[in-house]
Amino acid sequence: MTYKACRKCRKIIEDNDDVVDNQEKKEIFKECPICSGTTFTTFWKGNALIIDPEKSEIAEAMSVKTPGRYALRLSR
Ligand SMILES: [Zn+2]
Repeated sequence: MTYKACRKCRKIIEDNDDVVDNQEKKEIFKECPICSGTTFTTFWKGNALIIDPEKSEIAEAMSVKTPGRYALRLSR
């Protein structure tokens, strides 16, 4: 299992290797569920789990409004 991060909002998404059909796999995560972004990177470092964006300083600093796991840094 690998994880990739949305370049736009940094949401971390599971890149599911268990899916047998490769074409189907690409269909699953071609869009970010948060911002509908279509570019992702597997080169990211650190992550923050945002549970309550309203009360989280990290979420505010990262402009995160939806709970979930987000990458702190994107390498490329
Ligand atoms: Zn996104």
